[in-house]
Amino acid sequence: MFSKSSGMRGWFNFAILIAFIAIMFALGNLAIKRSVDAVIVANAERKATNWSHYLSTAMPDLQGMIRTGEATAAQKAVIDKAVQVADVFRFKLFNASAQMVLISDELGKPLEVGAQTDHNGYARRVLDTGRAIIDVQDGRQKDNRPDLYVEAYVPVLSGSGDCIGVVEVYLDQTPVANLFQSKFFTLVSSLGFVVLFSFGVPFLAYFFKLRQQVKTDAKVRLLSSRDQLTGLPNRSTFFQNVEDARQSGRLDLHNAAIVFIDLDNFKAINDTFGHKAGDAFLRHVGNAISSHLSDGDLAARFGGDEFILISANRTMAEVEALIESLRKSVSMPVRVDGIALTGHLSLGVHFDNLGDVSLKDRMHKADIALYQAKLMGRDNWVLFTPDLEEKIARRRYVEECIVAGFPQDRFEVHYQPLIEHSSSEVVGFEALLRLRDAGGDFISPTEFIPVAEDAGEINKIGMWVLEEAVKTAATWPEPLFVSVNLSAKQFDDGELVEAVKTILDKAGLPANRLELEVTENTLIEQEEKVTCQLRAFSAMGVSLAMDDFGTGYSSLGYLWKYAFDKIKVDRSFITSLTDIEGKSLHVLDTIIELGHRLDMTVTVEGIETEDQVQALQKLSCDHFQGFYYGVPMQASDLAPFVAENLAQVKVRAKRPVAVSEIKASG
Ligand code: C2E
Ligand code: MG
Ligand code: MG
Repeated sequence: MFSKSSGMRGWFNFAILIAFIAIMFALGNLAIKRSVDAVIVANAERKATNWSHYLSTAMPDLQGMIRTGEATAAQKAVIDKAVQVADVFRFKLFNASAQMVLISDELGKPLEVGAQTDHNGYARRVLDTGRAIIDVQDGRQKDNRPDLYVEAYVPVLSGSGDCIGVVEVYLDQTPVANLFQSKFFTLVSSLGFVVLFSFGVPFLAYFFKLRQQVKTDAKVRLLSSRDQLTGLPNRSTFFQNVEDARQSGRLDLHNAAIVFIDLDNFKAINDTFGHKAGDAFLRHVGNAISSHLSDGDLAARFGGDEFILISANRTMAEVEALIESLRKSVSMPVRVDGIALTGHLSLGVHFDNLGDVSLKDRMHKADIALYQAKLMGRDNWVLFTPDLEEKIARRRYVEECIVAGFPQDRFEVHYQPLIEHSSSEVVGFEALLRLRDAGGDFISPTEFIPVAEDAGEINKIGMWVLEEAVKTAATWPEPLFVSVNLSAKQFDDGELVEAVKTILDKAGLPANRLELEVTENTLIEQEEKVTCQLRAFSAMGVSLAMDDFGTGYSSLGYLWKYAFDKIKVDRSFITSLTDIEGKSLHVLDTIIELGHRLDMTVTVEGIETEDQVQALQKLSCDHFQGFYYGVPMQASDLAPFVAENLAQVKVRAKRPVAVSEIKASG
């Protein structure tokens, strides 16, 4: 990634700059030293040559002195003077045989034995070549010597220009060296400064810019690894974190609980209160999750209203406690612009410390559990169990069949006759929806209707059933009616009444030949919304039947409040009709009595046997419905029921019932 490598590159370049400066500095020093040495040598040679010339001209009988090695008083006076000329503090004289004959500061002292020798051979070389030799010496460690001096071996020439010996001149070069050193230093440092300024300043600017970029980049990386809204890691960071934790041994997935978390009705919060409220709520959930994390927990926002939590160090009981506490925190109201919003969570958990299952599989299982939690009405949590997988797979298959339903003509409306008790005649039919699966078998409506409701398909399907049923009923003679089941969801958009009116008009079926069946649940779920639409149906002349009465709360309130025309007693009463104490019969009798008192007709559903018919003879119910009288069948098979009398109907009903019909009827 740019940030990491550019960071490294920045430091690397910086190190190179420092090394470059250090090398330049060392080279500068070396150059200064070399230059100073060269200057000293040149200067010393010039001085020594001049001085030698001075000596040969100023010294009386220089040749004699060289020859004897003895200095006369006059010569001594010149020697004393000569060592003060041109920084010369000492000199030695060698004769033409390169033998030392005199040392200026040891005049009078006999020369040490062997001292006459030209120990380094310089005098000999000078005599041979006629060229001076300059030997630079460091005098710091020596007594009576300047810090820097040279021993310059130069030829001594006679007045006629012959080389009569060699003089080794000791020249103090310390002031010269200091002067040149400081001059060179000033020059080199100015040069260095110029170089540094021309290269270093832009480089430093680049370096600091790069560092700034690295910092910005790190910040961007941090931000992009986190969800901006909640501060929780995002999806990709989550997987990275899990991997890191696994590799470092902090997370053992075999003992971890995977919890999928989904905010219920988030879309509704967004749609109703706006995105600001939605964001506030997501932050609220994010905070609640963060505050529940402890060592060994990893959490992330997966996107939208989905979160995930992996908890490594908890028992199932502790995971349960965590979930309950989390749900409680989230259900606390959040205030946005003065409005208190409340929301709930659905959670799916996978906790299995035995199986060797991959993270992907475990997440899939937690997701299945979450799906189930939502199907169960949301605001709850479900622990994954193996049977759920099959259940959900089946549900998904059913959903696929629903989606394929219209394009592939898999929906059919079947009709089951409703018989009037007093006349034993067919008075109408209940329209019952059928859906075939890919193999052509029926899927029970008790299975596919809830799926269609959840998948948001029920309005389209319900409308199609109404159209089909009304169209078919319009072909029947009066006063046969058709009864159509409605789902609670069909009342949602408030357009049902108008749609039904249009369908009736289009088919030319009078409203009183249509009956609509709703269950108690429809009213419980959204009483307000449904109420006015039911009243509108009543006002139109459409009959209303309360279906499956006796299975829910069987609230009497619903019966008298909504002007139902009919009660359809659930078939569970009929199946237990012949029980030993006959209690069901009493209950049924009471319901029928109640219905009649409220001016409603009562239909008993699910009549299958002669015994049940006999038992019901004693009661005063109005309509019968059941396989005994007729199974749900296609519109094309209805003709005999429509045209013939009950005696014939009964004969027909005794034909073997198609297996698929029984399966479908559940
Ligand atoms: P429901 O409205 O109570 O319909 C009666 C159910 O009882 C039907 O099941 C019918 O086939 C079955 N049945 C009738 N007589 C007998 C009998 O003697 N014995 C047995 N064992 N069953 C009998 P079906 O067709 O499977 O429908 C089940 C439920 O699905 C219906 O119950 C209704 O709630 C729903 N449903 C069916 N069609 C539609 C529809 O078009 N829209 C909506 N929203 N729901 C529908
Ligand atoms: Mg019904
Ligand atoms: Mg029913």
